[in-house]
Amino acid sequence: MVIWKRGTSAEQLKKVDALLEEVGIDPQRAAESQAHQFSGGQCQRISIARSLVLDPTLIICDEPVSALDVSVQAQVLNLLEDLKAKHGLTLVFIAHDLAVVKNISDRIQVMYLGKICEVAPSNSLYDSPAHHYTKVLIDSIPVPDPEIAIGQVAIEGEPPSPVLPPPGCRFNPRCAAADDRCRTEEPQLREVGDAGGGHYVACHHPLIGGEAPLVVRLPAR
Ligand code: SF4
Repeated sequence: MVIWKRGTSAEQLKKVDALLEEVGIDPQRAAESQAHQFSGGQCQRISIARSLVLDPTLIICDEPVSALDVSVQAQVLNLLEDLKAKHGLTLVFIAHDLAVVKNISDRIQVMYLGKICEVAPSNSLYDSPAHHYTKVLIDSIPVPDPEIAIGQVAIEGEPPSPVLPPPGCRFNPRCAAADDRCRTEEPQLREVGDAGGGHYVACHHPLIGGEAPLVVRLPAR
């Protein structure tokens, strides 16, 4: 606020206090504390307050909860949801934890080795993943129920070097459905599912309803 010349000193202090209260931090205690006296969750709340101070419309949240334990993660996610509604914010949320992504997102973009694999509304992506990498990611989400057997996730190997990516589809060395076309031709994003539903996938052999398509080979004439 000082750099951007927003308000007088008194107004700036008042806004800092209001934002700290909004994210659940006592302004009085914060003013008397050193940085190392705050927990990880409190530091994250202060960072969120700081990001709001210039009244943005868009905030890019890069792994905002990955360093927090699960109960604190839930608190910070709820806080972000509340702030999103209250301030009319758009949040670009970058994360590896798909359970967390599912909770907070309206629309999800899955990337592999720097390329977009799939873009879809949250429910559509989780109910009917169309890209083989998305399917593997979703199947990897642990279910906290001892009655449910741990699934076999069909993926092997390591991601290739982003400096020297494989030709064609970047996921082809690890994809069980890869064929010659996948190894030579880069798939482009195209719409799948209901027209206008906003579900796009970059795959030559997209899954249908989360399952591999039935391949019917016609006899040669
Ligand atoms: S384009 Fe081919 S290799 Fe890539 S995800 Fe689809 S089926 Fe697998």
